[in-house]
Amino acid sequence: MNSGRFKGRVALVTGGSRGIGRAVAELLSQEGASVAVNYRARAEEAAAVVEAIRDQGRQAVAVKADVASRPEVDAMVEQACSALGPIDILVNNAGLLATGTLLQYEPDEFERMWRVNVNGVLHATAAVAPSMIEKKYGRIVNLSSIAALGTAVPETTLYAATKGAVQILTKRFALELGPHGITVNAVLPGLILTDMVSEGHTEEEMQRRIEAVSRKSLLGRVGEPGDIASVVAFLASDESGFMTGQFLTADGGRTDLLTHA
Ligand code: NAP
Repeated sequence: MNSGRFKGRVALVTGGSRGIGRAVAELLSQEGASVAVNYRARAEEAAAVVEAIRDQGRQAVAVKADVASRPEVDAMVEQACSALGPIDILVNNAGLLATGTLLQYEPDEFERMWRVNVNGVLHATAAVAPSMIEKKYGRIVNLSSIAALGTAVPETTLYAATKGAVQILTKRFALELGPHGITVNAVLPGLILTDMVSEGHTEEEMQRRIEAVSRKSLLGRVGEPGDIASVVAFLASDESGFMTGQFLTADGGRTDLLTHA
């Protein structure tokens, strides 16, 4: 086991039960952190992550909350703090992808996605900020997406809008929290193989998509959750202590952008 960049730190990972969040929770804990693993619905998956972390001799707790709800987020942060101590590291990872074109989108689906992807970041950051300010220390890492840079992927315009909002929240929270010793940065993943991208698609469709995206990537492949977890861990560590308000792209070198501005 790695001895630890995160020894003595407490992390809260929203959407830590699956995909990228799970990889982040496991990596932070491997490197010494105690981790609160948030989930919305899949208690069994969250419990499996917690068990895997405890098997490694680290502390972990599963905390249920819909990040779209401020009261649920407040209760989650309270539960995480009383189990593990005040939060040093917040990873705003929970997110939803609702697809659709301008002419076909479902307003309710868009509003739900906005509440999770944008309000969720706001609620969790506001809930942990007071204790970080008190400690004069904090690391906040937001999961944005290359969608916010203007990828040419059809039917992701509205998702891109939510991630564009995450980018500006990252900058503005960095401005507000910087004087208190808290850094706020974002990671912009490309296509990462998780439930989010495979749900609703056949294996054949996924294979075609993976091949198509790989052809548009300088590294010739799509990503795995671990490719993003290591970048999140860097921004959550003291090694990035002089970086704030920054966006790190991890997409294998995608070339299918709408603009290069
Ligand atoms: P995923 O596999 O679909 O997992 C989503 C996670 O978020 C699950 O743990 C889920 O909990 C949780 N979650 C969903 N809605 C929630 C809510 N309202 N409150 C609390 N938790 C909630 O997603 P992923 O692909 O790992 O994506 C993680 C983040 O990376 C997202 O912000 C996503 O937009 C971003 N991202 C992903 C990709 C990609 O290609 N995968 C690319 C760019 C950016 P349950 O298990 O309880 O449902």
